[in-house]
Formats: sequence, C-alpha cells, structure tokens
Amino acid sequence: MTFPSSDVASAAVVRRPWHPLSLLLVLALWLTTMGNLPLWRALWALTDDHNLRSWLGLVAMVLIVLSITTVLLSLLVWPGWRKPAGLVLLLTVTANSYFMQTYGVVIDPTMMANTLQTDVREVRDLLSWSMLVVLALGVALPGWWWWRQPVQKLPVGRLLVRQLGLAILALLVMLTVVWASFQNFSSTMRNHKPLRYMVNPINTVYAGARLLAGQTARAQLPLQRIGEDAVMVRPAGATTSAPLIVLVVGETVRAANFGLAGYARDTTPQLRQLMERGELAYFTDVSSCGTNTQVSVPCMFSHLGREANAKNVTPYENLLDVLQRAGMQVLWLDNQSGCKGVCDRVPNASTLQLKDPAFCTDGECFDGIMLRVLPERLAQLEKANPTGKVSAGTVVVLHQMGNHGPAYYKRTPADMKVYQPECRSNMLQNCPVQQIVNAYDNAVHYTDHLLSETVRWLKSQPRPTAMLYVSDHGESLGENGLYLHGMPYMMAPKEQTHVPMALWLSKPLQSQLGWDATCWKKQVNHAVSHDHLFHSFLTLAQVKTSWHKSELDVFSACTARTP
Ligand SMILES: [Zn+2]
Repeated sequence: MTFPSSDVASAAVVRRPWHPLSLLLVLALWLTTMGNLPLWRALWALTDDHNLRSWLGLVAMVLIVLSITTVLLSLLVWPGWRKPAGLVLLLTVTANSYFMQTYGVVIDPTMMANTLQTDVREVRDLLSWSMLVVLALGVALPGWWWWRQPVQKLPVGRLLVRQLGLAILALLVMLTVVWASFQNFSSTMRNHKPLRYMVNPINTVYAGARLLAGQTARAQLPLQRIGEDAVMVRPAGATTSAPLIVLVVGETVRAANFGLAGYARDTTPQLRQLMERGELAYFTDVSSCGTNTQVSVPCMFSHLGREANAKNVTPYENLLDVLQRAGMQVLWLDNQSGCKGVCDRVPNASTLQLKDPAFCTDGECFDGIMLRVLPERLAQLEKANPTGKVSAGTVVVLHQMGNHGPAYYKRTPADMKVYQPECRSNMLQNCPVQQIVNAYDNAVHYTDHLLSETVRWLKSQPRPTAMLYVSDHGESLGENGLYLHGMPYMMAPKEQTHVPMALWLSKPLQSQLGWDATCWKKQVNHAVSHDHLFHSFLTLAQVKTSWHKSELDVFSACTARTP
C-alpha cells in the first residue's frame, strides 16, 4: 500500500522514513498525553496537596497508560491499515475526551451501545462550535501530520517479531510500574471507579470488545418464548368491555424535578389535580433498571429484572409478546430513536415520517404528536385485528422524547415554556445552572401536560381505561460536575436512577379489576423498581401466566383474593 506521503519525500527536504516502531511510539505518546487530558485533570484534582507522592503517582499512571496503549498498538496496528487506524484512534480519543470534559460522562459498554444506536436527531443535538475546534486540534492537525509521515518497509517476519517484542516489553514495563506503585494505584482505582472508564482509548476498545462478544453470543441463540400459558382473566360479575391501557415510557425525567415527588417547583400541576381528586397515584420510591435508554427500556419490559438482565445474553420475548399472546392488541408509538427491540413483534409506528407543522420541525416532533395520531392509529389497529375475534383489550405504549438532553429547550413548544430564561445551548456548562434547570423543568411541565391530556382523552373513551407513566432513567444537571446520564449503575448518582412513576385508573377499570378503591393508592410508598413493571402490568392488564411473580407485583395486595 502506498501513501501520498511517499511522493512528498522528493521535495527539497528529504525526510528520513520512520522506523515503524518509533512511529507507533509517537502515536502512543500522543494518545496517552493529549488524548487523555480529562483523565489527567481528574487525577490531578483528586487532591489539593500536590507533594512528591502525588507527582510520582501521576507519573506512574502516565507510564501505565502509555505501556497499555503501546501493547494495544503493537498488537492491532499493522502496515496495511496503519494510517487509517491512527486516524480512527485520534478521532476516538478526541471525541471521548470532548464528551467526558463537557458532560462528565465516562465510556463503558452501555454508553458505547447507546452511541452506536443513536440517530441523526441525537447527533445534531450534540454538535457545537467548540466541538469543531476540539476536533480540529485533536484530529485534523495531528491526523494530517500522521498521514504524511513516510515509514520504512520491513520484511513481514521481521516486523512481526519487532512489534510483538515491543508489546512484551511494554507489558513488562506496565507490570513493573503497577507493582512498584501498587498501593497507590489500587486504592485510587478502587476509590474513584469512574477513572477506570476514562482511560482512552482502552475504554473504547474494552467496551467494543464486550459489546461484540455479547452480540455474537446473542445472535447465535434463538429467541426464547416466555409466558406461553398467558390468558386473560376477567373477574366474574365485572363489565366485559375490553380495557384500553396506555403505558407512557418517559425519557430522562428524574424524580428530583417532578412536582409530585415534592420538588420545590410544581412542574406537574395537572397531575397534582388528578391526584387531589383521588384518580391518580404517584409512586415515591422507584429505581430505574439502567442509567441509559439502551439498558433501561428493554429491561423495563423484561421478566428478568436488573441484576439478571445485566448478565443475561439469551434473547427473550418481553411483556408485549405476552400481552399479545394472551389476546390483547398492542401498539407501540415512538417519538424517539426506536424501541430498542422491544416492539419488534408487535404493531409499531414512528413519528419520524410525520410532518405535522403543529408538532414537527426539522424531522423532530414534540411528544404531543403521539396523542394527535393515537385515535386514528388505534382505529386502524382494531380494524386490522387479524384474529377477527373481539379483542380482549388494548395496550398502547407511547415512547416519549421527554427530557432528552442536552438540548432540553427543544422539547417544549414556545407557548409551553413557563420557566424563563432557558438555556438554549447544548453546551450546558456555558449556561448558568438555573437556566439549564429552567429548560429541563419546562420539559417536565410539558410531560405533565401530555399525561393529563392522555387522561382527558382516555376519559372520553367508552371503555375501562388506565394510564401508567414511568421514566426510563434520570439525569444529572451539573451535580458534582456531572451532566446527562449513562454512568455505570454501581457508581451512578441518585439523580440518574430515581425516576417518577404514576398510575391513573378509571373507575370502570377499577371495578373490573375488583380492586378496593383505596388499595392501589396505598402501594405508593414501597421501594420498587423497573423490575416490578413486568409483573405489575400483567395484573393491571388482567393477564394470567405462571411467569408472574407476586413478590414483584406492586398491586399484589389489591388482588389478594381467590381467583
Ligand atoms: Zn432514555
């Protein structure tokens, strides 16, 4: 393979071609130092007292990262793709550093999965001028230099021996430094876990390998059916009309900013009215399954629960498959970047193609669009009922754009912005905290509007109805320098895992369920999580299966009667 650089050598100054190992070391040095500025900054900030010991600790960490990077480059970078690989690595470390520094995120397998599943709208929300400048300094300039360097051509056998030799040498250096600084090194890594996910580009290589291994394992396994014995149960004496339940999957709404959760600002005034009238229950202590959409949304519909899900590679059916099997009609309406596989086997529709000017601009719609199209979609669904039998009931999932960041201000129509002034930038740290919070709270307030409009519409339906709302995960709004979400669960702050959940239940459905008028409202203070959603929803939908676990059913106390 020849590179443009070989022609440049004929210019007035004849450049000596690099030895391949020297050039790899130059790259390793750049990636370690300039490519890890957020890591070095974070390590430096661990203490105010910078003495000889902290300096030595920092030098040891630099040597460790340099040697791991050298091992990685020696094993992975070979002549056929040396130059493109260098560019990819420069882009990786620069982009990682930019997001770590800007939003305080770290790079782990779920963050990587989220990144790979992103769409144009989400990417557009992240673009900024400062990002362009960072990419120019971190990728374009060094990349241009890297691409132009002439390299000696060594015989394949000799290069192989040299590069593997360099890998072994670097490994020995790393082991020696870790051994010499073990106490310091291990306590730093133990006490400051996010640091592990800040080491570029090792975090990305590790996350990519984990993801690939998981996906390969998953692709080879057949889909496991669950709830094959699922049937509808209707208590004797209750009305027989088929219920309609709307499940609203919220996005990035944390309980801390939800009016009903006791937030100082009443961001949910309309839901509060419903609660005061005794029609709605707010669950005060709900934990999310993950800290990002990619993990949380599939987990919410899974029978497995958070801990089992984290280890699981087997592809299972989910709650929607079980409801459909029991005879319910299911519809997923999506105003976000897709259902993450949850709606693969049920009727589903995305709002992406809709161009309704009242709700949509630039290929993006406010969540209200889902409620606008719901009646006609529902009519289509019920008309197309393939079995021809009277449906046992209908479940509609509305997947919100909610409070998707960092461009919170894009989530609310102009006439719904009650808190001013708003941060109108995706560069959150350039805005005063109060403006970020204003933009975020406006989006919560808009969700309050969406939910109460949903209830209003459900009340107009001549059948038993209910609405369950639960957010997929929370968000950091600058607490401890953290923004957005996606922290590995074990180290995630409560802002990212404590989510709001609310249930509105119509009187006809309440009597169809045979529930005591107060029972379901008494369950609100128990500590529950997304693990409870699968089992509780089965009860709400009156579907019976041996896969139901009453210990994970929020409503088990209400249904404790003989079947
Ligand atoms: Zn999400």
